Amino acid sequence: MSANTPAANLHHLLSCLSDYDPNSLPVAQAQQIIQLFVTPIDSVEKLAIRQALGRVLAADVLSGINVPAYDNSAMDGYAFIGSDLQKKATDNSDPTNQTLTLKVVGAAYAGRAFEGAVQPGECVRIMTGAVMPSSCDTVIPQEWTVEISDSKQATESKQSNLGNLKQIRIPAAQINAGDNRRLKGEDLAIGTTALSKGKILRPADLGLLASLGVAEVAVQRRLRVAIFSTGDELRSLGETLDLGCVYDSNRYTLYGMLTRLGCEIIDMGVIKDDPISLEAAFRSAGENADAIITSGGVSVGAADYTKQMMEKLGDVAFWSIAMRPGRPMAFGKIQSNKSDQANGKGAYLFGLPGNPVAVMVSFYFFVRDALLHMMGAGAAESTSTTSSTSLPLVPAISSVALRKRAGRTEYQRGIVSVATNGQLQVSITGSQGSGILRSMSEANCMVVLHHDQADIAAGEKVDILLFEGLI
Ligand code: AMP
Ligand code: MG
Repeated sequence: MSANTPAANLHHLLSCLSDYDPNSLPVAQAQQIIQLFVTPIDSVEKLAIRQALGRVLAADVLSGINVPAYDNSAMDGYAFIGSDLQKKATDNSDPTNQTLTLKVVGAAYAGRAFEGAVQPGECVRIMTGAVMPSSCDTVIPQEWTVEISDSKQATESKQSNLGNLKQIRIPAAQINAGDNRRLKGEDLAIGTTALSKGKILRPADLGLLASLGVAEVAVQRRLRVAIFSTGDELRSLGETLDLGCVYDSNRYTLYGMLTRLGCEIIDMGVIKDDPISLEAAFRSAGENADAIITSGGVSVGAADYTKQMMEKLGDVAFWSIAMRPGRPMAFGKIQSNKSDQANGKGAYLFGLPGNPVAVMVSFYFFVRDALLHMMGAGAAESTSTTSSTSLPLVPAISSVALRKRAGRTEYQRGIVSVATNGQLQVSITGSQGSGILRSMSEANCMVVLHHDQADIAAGEKVDILLFEGLI
């Protein structure tokens, strides 16, 4: 099965896999199944470019103009005809002392061109970004020149004033014809693809679009993601915490992660573990959302109705993934109305475990890429050479020994810093329990110990995922 032909039915897809074991599914295989099954949404909207930040481009943007639109100066200096450099005079036997004297015939400013003609032996004072005068192809930076004023006295260029300036002397051996000139179309030539469909627009892209004179772009509509938490022990903020209860934190971490991904969130709150409430919640989510993310109630042997309802309303697989934290997970598709599969709208389902750290790890390593694919993000946004997810892993030296069982992927919360030798070194935050959210909050990276890796000795290299980056 290829990634270009998404499967219509999850159970059919799973039956085609020869080595599929839902009770011990390697992380990479779970990621692969999810990528094969999810399909991009097909709905586009036009937005002003500022509003398009972080959104997925729905069509290629071709450059309608040359950028820059004309040859211009890259420096503050003097523009002249490059072939004049062959006429340089040698003041003495030292070839580095060759100079050329040019007569200043005018000035060109950014936005105000010099319109006169420039003859051999002449030059024009020019500012950065100003149009190159016709026939000029070379700019000498101002600080390399010596100005010769009316009084024929050489002065430092900084101190001089253009009004009484007649000539400059330039060190001809230090410059080549064509230097310090930006060519028309060198940034973007007319008709070329400036930005490709599937690109997530970043600050540089907004600037690039503006530089093309583009005010609006077509982007994929935001992905609608419904979230709810399941569990009778969960309390919402503002409620009192009865014996045995915990505040629902998962909806808040999910809110943060989904917001950063640019999704529209349908927050359905805490759903009690009763079949009527759960069925209503799943049906409503299936009707209104592109994806549903739940937490809790998917563990093996959980005495609740969440799994039953997922089974009843959709095409859902229940996995025990060879990973830590995060083993249990449900994945599939929920129909809003199972009796009308053809017309009933459906939503992809990610049933995450309840433990707060497991929720975040499962989100980053399974859900995030699936959502990016659904958002229409291109391959460049969702592949990486070092990891099977879009999240780039970087190597760091572990400053401590780490216990690791081969045959599962382990994610430890780490603190990375730069050692005195310039290498990245990583240590582990306190307790690594899958319910201890503080370990995640204190960490600035995650240490990814791969499926086949065993114990790590102090000083050994490990892969880490940095939590923050400049995007
Ligand atoms: P479960 O996967 O439902 O068996 O839950 C595993 C653990 O995670 C239990 O200790 C739950 O109380 C806890 N848990 C489940 N959902 C949440 C939530 N939304 N916020 C905080 N803790 C949760
Ligand atoms: Mg539960």
